[in-house]
Amino acid sequence: MKPVQAKITIAHGRIQSVEPLFGAVEIVTETGHHSYPGAWALPGFVDSHAHILGLGMRLTGLNLFDAISAEECADRVRSHASYSGEWITGMGWNQELWSSKSYPHAHLLDDVLPDTPVYLRRADGHAAWVNSAALHIAGITDQTKDPVGGTILRDEKHRATGVLVDNAMDLVARHIPKPTEQQQQDMILAATRECSRLGITEVHDMDVHPTLLPLFRDMAEKGTLSVRVQSYISGQNDEWLDERLLPAGGEFLRVYGVKLYADGALGSHGALLTEPYSDAPDTRGLALLSPNELEHKVRTILEFGWNVAIHAIGDEANRRVLDTYGLMRTEGVADEHVLLRIEHAQTVHTEDQHKFALHSVIPAVQPIHCISDAPMAEQRLGARCSYAYPWRSLRNNGAILTGGSDFPIESGDPLLGIDAFCRRIPFGRMAAWNPSECLTRDEALDAYTSWAHEAADVSYRRGKIKPKYDADIVVLDSNLLMCPDEFITSTRVLATYTAGVRRYQCEDNSA
Ligand SMILES: [Zn+2]
Repeated sequence: MKPVQAKITIAHGRIQSVEPLFGAVEIVTETGHHSYPGAWALPGFVDSHAHILGLGMRLTGLNLFDAISAEECADRVRSHASYSGEWITGMGWNQELWSSKSYPHAHLLDDVLPDTPVYLRRADGHAAWVNSAALHIAGITDQTKDPVGGTILRDEKHRATGVLVDNAMDLVARHIPKPTEQQQQDMILAATRECSRLGITEVHDMDVHPTLLPLFRDMAEKGTLSVRVQSYISGQNDEWLDERLLPAGGEFLRVYGVKLYADGALGSHGALLTEPYSDAPDTRGLALLSPNELEHKVRTILEFGWNVAIHAIGDEANRRVLDTYGLMRTEGVADEHVLLRIEHAQTVHTEDQHKFALHSVIPAVQPIHCISDAPMAEQRLGARCSYAYPWRSLRNNGAILTGGSDFPIESGDPLLGIDAFCRRIPFGRMAAWNPSECLTRDEALDAYTSWAHEAADVSYRRGKIKPKYDADIVVLDSNLLMCPDEFITSTRVLATYTAGVRRYQCEDNSA
């Protein structure tokens, strides 16, 4: 993917002509003429695994992502409480970033709010920290058994500590009142505006609950979405089936696939491994679906004409999903037009890496997870780190990677992802981590543009700056292909166009 300097003429949301220019980008639309001296244009970035509503919640709600201790989280809950209604919800805590490194306890929140229920999601979304009032509402006592695929963390006296992992989260979450439609719309608007600011023109939105679709559809029809959305509907509890949903397509919203979870996350020892955890020898993680359930659900989803995206982090989870997909391909349940994706594909055993190309499975990877999780992954995986986040190995085995951020869990900035793909330098460190797994700059840009469009089967009309292609364009202040490594993340987005309309422009660079 090569950045261009050109005069790009746009009409009806499509590129009409591209004339090479020296030293500038000019964009001529039906309503205006914008000139960007010294700038470079690329096809708009795609975030191919993210959560739009979650980002909206992060932008509009209680944010714990940069809290440095459990006490600081509790303080923020205290100051947020007066603005909120019945429940206090927030997200972003991560004990790995605290000096204690240990899970927080309900009593810290009880000291702040003894009567108001509090529910705080961990940064990776795979655990929740709640107070005693929330445990009480959910009816969780010290005697409550762990649900299948979930854990209620307990102290040495077997008392629930207030931290719920994976499927145990829902014991409390199901009691939280849903936000109103107006609140949801505000969240979606905040999130999509943020995407435009980051140069993103399309998002593969994961785990969308079917009840949200009317709102998205309405916003798409009214033209208030500033990014295109490919929706992957929640399928873990057959939510799509209960609502009798079928795939549907449009310019700004395409209801495109169903999302499942094969396992949990590495941070909470929930990722399913072939061998025990290096730092917890009594566990191999959690299978969130048994092999039979996995096959049955995938088969049903395919029979209804959907594409499938399955979360798999551990090497055993990746193996199971790849083999299930392989079976669906050989049986013809999934023909060559069906998109089969593995979300995260974080730990892929060397014996399984060739199966992505063999069964035409797309690894949807989030490079920023690698650079933020490397120290934790070393603890959890030990020597298996040699095949963790194996981007180069997957490429060498013929896979097409598609890049994303998993926002709001991580920053949605594609430039951070492109930098992580190319350099793999963990936060707080100076040197690359397993540098042999880096991608080239060209590949990193493709993963955020043309390959991502292949992962939604729209590469015939998106991902190039070329006549007849959709006018989804990001204008940047440097040449992302040629600039020195250390300039990738300081590159600025000057403007973002989706369907030929300028959705964002950098304040101090207006035309
Ligand atoms: Zn996700």
